[in-house]
Amino acid sequence: MNYISTRGKITSENSVSSMYAIKTGLACDGGLFVPEQIPQISAEDIEKLCSLDYPHRAADVLSRFLTDYDYNYLLESAAKAYGDDRFVGGAAPLYKLDETRNVLELWHGPTCAFKDMALQIMPRLLTGALKGTGEKRTAFILVATSGDTGKAALEGYKDIDGIKITVFYPVEGVSRVQKLQMATQTGNNVNVCAIEGNFDDAQNGVKKIFSDTAFAEKLDENGYFLSSANSINWGRLAPQIVYYISAYCDLVKSGAINNGDYINVTVPTGNFGNILAAYYAKLMGLKINKLVCASNSNNVLTDFLRSGTYDRNRKFYTTMSPSMDILISSNLERLLYLMCGAKETAGYMKSLAESGKYTVGAECLAKIRESFEGYYCDEAGTAETIKKTFDEKNYLIDTHTAVAVKCADDYISETGDAKKMVIASTASPYKFAVDVLDALTGERDAEPLESLAKLSKITNTTIPAPLSGLDKREVRFNKTISKDDMLSEVAGELQIK
Ligand SMILES: *Cc1c(COP(=O)(O)O)cnc(C)c1O
Repeated sequence: MNYISTRGKITSENSVSSMYAIKTGLACDGGLFVPEQIPQISAEDIEKLCSLDYPHRAADVLSRFLTDYDYNYLLESAAKAYGDDRFVGGAAPLYKLDETRNVLELWHGPTCAFKDMALQIMPRLLTGALKGTGEKRTAFILVATSGDTGKAALEGYKDIDGIKITVFYPVEGVSRVQKLQMATQTGNNVNVCAIEGNFDDAQNGVKKIFSDTAFAEKLDENGYFLSSANSINWGRLAPQIVYYISAYCDLVKSGAINNGDYINVTVPTGNFGNILAAYYAKLMGLKINKLVCASNSNNVLTDFLRSGTYDRNRKFYTTMSPSMDILISSNLERLLYLMCGAKETAGYMKSLAESGKYTVGAECLAKIRESFEGYYCDEAGTAETIKKTFDEKNYLIDTHTAVAVKCADDYISETGDAKKMVIASTASPYKFAVDVLDALTGERDAEPLESLAKLSKITNTTIPAPLSGLDKREVRFNKTISKDDMLSEVAGELQIK
């Protein structure tokens, strides 16, 4: 199976392999790579997957999309990525909250956020792509992060042959815990650097380096090429399809549903990558009825799904669910392509770049609404849901998951749709301990590291190993540079003159 672009310049006539799509990240017309066809999964396939462990489920699903990879390579990669040493207690366990609601815990990986689900295996997919395409150069991964992605990418790419990684973060723009997580990063091919400025400065600096053709030539002369780890890369999306299928299998296995019954899915959404993966699972034939797109106060997607107009010209809110504080959801482009084709998508993206908004046609909106529902939850609702879920169910959730739980509840009570609901849980509550503690006790602005211990004490739960003893680890990276020095930092790191 080959890959084409959402904007119409790469079609079935000049389509590329999955290895090529993963190696390059973005299509040459500025669009995103999408599979040419959607592989199907039957009830018999589901039956078979039910008896397998997570790495085998992953290898099976991935092999349907990444057809130029050897199945055994995918299985070996999945076994290493999702092993017990990295995902303590299993890769994507399903927790039954009550008869209707089930929480899909995607945060048991090395950085305690769902991005590990993709970023633990994606480096191995990239390694396979470098080998498979005869690439001799070293891939240089450059990341600008507002917190979660940087750490997850560092953990994923550390000590992987043929790859180097540098992460830039805004010195005042990440939490104390996130900063410590990155500053103490281990591995012999990693570099972390703070910049004076905000996240946009970091992101713009990285974009500048990516579009610097003279620098690209220098990199090439020195045996390097630039590559990206963010969620527009198909290599990050494909591994996320797996856990929705896996969750369905777990519901069948436990007897909660019969194979063939429909379920609903709610996803706390930012860049639209995670929920899009669930939609791909539905397109494959997984029995998903509705996908509830849950947003925080930055509810640009809620408005879009209800009205057909996407308008980023609005106030930006800094919330307690920062990984969803996004006004341009880059993966929505793939949904537009699936719903209304490459020509219209290219037009909408042009309009978005020029005026910050677009409106899809009535037919396109009707098609989107067959599968998607948009809901949002404000700050007060988020805090209340954390407290209510703990008080009533003795179950601790983080701020992002709380947004999803509230939106799922609103959907269920407004529609009366009582099908089993799978709610994606995207971070450990300990990753956002200050706000979770506040929601539970009303204690504001606790000292970040102390908040972990306090949360553990009052909820009688354990601090996940990756987050405990952070202040006792060796700080390896404490450099802060001007945003104008990012290129020279990279050149110095790679010893390029
Ligand atoms: C990245 C992230 C999200 C948003 O996921 P998208 O795929 O960007 O929609 C939600 N919650 C957490 C904790 C995240 O890190």
